[in-house]
Order: sequence, then C-alpha cells, then structure tokens
Amino acid sequence: MSQKSKSFSELRCDAVSGDWVVVAAGRGKRPDQFGLKRDVSSSTAKTGCPFCVFFDRSLPKGSGIVVVDNKYPAFSPDAGLGKAFGQGFFKKKPALGFHEVVVLKKHDIQLADVSLDELKELIGVYQERYLILSAKKGIKYVFIFHNQGPLAGASITHPHSQIIANNVVDFGFLRPLKASQAFYAKNKKCLYCQVVKAEMKNKERIVDENKSFVALCPFASKISFEVMIFPKNHSPYFERISEEEKADLADILKSVLIKIKKGVGDPDYNFFIRTSPCDKASYPYFHWHLDILPKTAIYAGFELGANMEIITMAPEQAAEYLRKIKV
Ligand SMILES: [Zn+2]
Ligand SMILES: [Zn+2]
Repeated sequence: MSQKSKSFSELRCDAVSGDWVVVAAGRGKRPDQFGLKRDVSSSTAKTGCPFCVFFDRSLPKGSGIVVVDNKYPAFSPDAGLGKAFGQGFFKKKPALGFHEVVVLKKHDIQLADVSLDELKELIGVYQERYLILSAKKGIKYVFIFHNQGPLAGASITHPHSQIIANNVVDFGFLRPLKASQAFYAKNKKCLYCQVVKAEMKNKERIVDENKSFVALCPFASKISFEVMIFPKNHSPYFERISEEEKADLADILKSVLIKIKKGVGDPDYNFFIRTSPCDKASYPYFHWHLDILPKTAIYAGFELGANMEIITMAPEQAAEYLRKIKV
C-alpha cells in the first residue's frame, strides 16, 4: 500500500453521463486565511501572506502583476501525456495541464477599486498567458477565472486570478458550444450575436455599454445579479482581443464591479472568461464572453440536485437597479 512517487491529480469519467471530474487530493492542503479578510486596514504587506512576498523584492518599474505556478495545482505538466486508462466503468486519464496564479500588487484591494490601467494590464496578462499556455502540447482548454472573497472560494485574501490550462473541454461548456454550432449550421449566424442584438434593441436587461462591449443581466440568469459582458463585434477567441478592446473591457468590467459592490452590499463573486477551446479545431460559431456571478445565494438541495437555480430578483429588475448606480 505504500506510495513512493508523487501523486498527481487525475481525471475520472462518469460511466453514465460521460462527464469528467478532477480528483485532486493534494489540494486539500491549501492555506486558509478567511479570518484575515475583514480585519486588515492598511495596504502594506501582510505578515504571512504568501503573495505579498513577491512584491517585497524589487521588481522592474511598472510591474504591478506577478504570475506564479499554483503551489497546489489541480492540473500538472508532469502528469504525463498519457491517454485514458482505467477500465470498464472506471475510465481515468492524467490531469495534464498548468495551473497558474495571477497576483495583483496590493493586498487590500478588490478589482472594483484598482486603476483602469492596472485592470487593462491584468487583461493583457490573461491574454499573454493564454497564448503561451494554449500552445503547449496536449492543452485543449484554457480557463481564466477570478474568485473574490471566501464565499466565492478565494482561499487567500490577497487579490489574484487563476488560469487553468488542461487536456479536456469541460462538460459544462459542451452544451452551449453544441447549441451555438447547431444554430450556426442552420442559420449561418452566431447565436450569441443574435441574442446580444435582441437584448440591445430591447434594452431592459442592459447594465452598461461602451464602444466595444455590452454588459447585461441574462434573460435566464443563473443567480440574482448575474452580469455577462459580450464583445459587440463577433469574436470566438478572447486571445485575439485588441489594445483598444482591452481598454474598453477594463472600463466596463470596472463599472460593473463597482455597481455590484455598491448596489448589492459588496458581495463575494466569481467571474470567468468563456472562450473557444484551443484544440486546433475552429469555432466560428462561438462568441467569447465574461460571466460575473455574485454570491447572492447559496446553492441548496434543489439547485444542486435538479441543476435548476431559483433566483429571487428578476433579471430586468436587477439590470434596472444596477444601471442606475453611478460609478
Ligand atoms: Zn498579500
Ligand atoms: Zn457572435
């Protein structure tokens, strides 16, 4: 029963649904600093913060963001390029990939409060890392996300985003991907473009917009005050974002985050970027976007079991409310 070699995470396939899950036992060792969140008042380096130390050293001028490997990765480049193994009902494959942490400079700050320049720099780092990681052997998807606060799963207070590049396209994404592919095949148009166009005409669920992007509460929001940000022009690939679009994305993201912080009682939240897979296929029918999910409810039995959320604020009301909040 002895296990001499280092254990890596593994992917396991559900024999009935075909869905993959990650078994990452090593991540049980993550540090837990929840108690720090509301106690701190100054913005100097915090004793014991594993991220503040990166900024103690003298960094080149202008370096406000540092990218490091996650110390407790869900996916590892050393997991091997092996194909599926396991047998019968118990199919597995190595959880090959990269798990990086993108660390902002200041300890006590939320993204809503960082400067537009820093937010644009952060988006630029997302793009840079995306391009590097997506080119690695065996990588099929690069997932960029940000957890704000303990309820959203941030185990370290210091603001940071995460990037997971791995060897599967997650099952949650396959359904919208297939739906947009089917719509495109039938109508020769992007489904997302059509929905965004209809939303912009209708206006009642629009939260904010600028030259390149529109932010809206989706018609069938998954949680109260969910906000999605779409590029106005059709684009399947986040990584092709231009300099001007990066500035516009920083602008609208900051605006939406401030509105949520001010208007919804400073909730914890998650956001993530949905872009096309990087598995060498082309995805002309997909339209990248950013999805912000404030923690305004806790998933209970029905939500988890039936996979159907009950929201208590109509998206039209949520959008009207957020729209009116001055930033
Ligand atoms: Zn820190
Ligand atoms: Zn589109």
